[in-house]
Amino acid sequence: MSDLKKLYQDVILEHSKNPRNFGTMEPCTHHGHGDNPLCGDKIDIFLTLDDSDHIEDIKFDGKGCAITIASASLMTEILKGKTISTAQNLFDQFDGFVSDGNEITSADTDTKGLQLLSGVRQFPARVKCATLPWHAFKSALQNSTIVTTEKV
Ligand code: ZN
Repeated sequence: MSDLKKLYQDVILEHSKNPRNFGTMEPCTHHGHGDNPLCGDKIDIFLTLDDSDHIEDIKFDGKGCAITIASASLMTEILKGKTISTAQNLFDQFDGFVSDGNEITSADTDTKGLQLLSGVRQFPARVKCATLPWHAFKSALQNSTIVTTEKV
């Protein structure tokens, strides 16, 4: 087993067992939901944006395989404190990275965690698991849903 593959597995395992920023957020300014019926992954993303479009806080909740949970955990760590435009740029880069094998070029961000997810490229069926939290995040930005006590 190569060092990178080992590291990839360690990171996935560690984040899936001990996810960061896990739980619901109430109140929040934005909420998005993502579903991956192929694998049974369901992810909710909760955001609070401040007046200058920074992600003041981000949390996720849901059920999924180790890759989905680890990806969501890594994503929330990376996006917290970022501006929306930086976050959208990272979304595009990550999507291109796991789907098409493009390199992540963002210099101003710690993207090592994202690069560790490169291992999923060997398993095309798992790419959707890795990108699901990002799609839920994007839908949260678009929907701008105010979350109430109602469960989605
Ligand atoms: Zn999955």
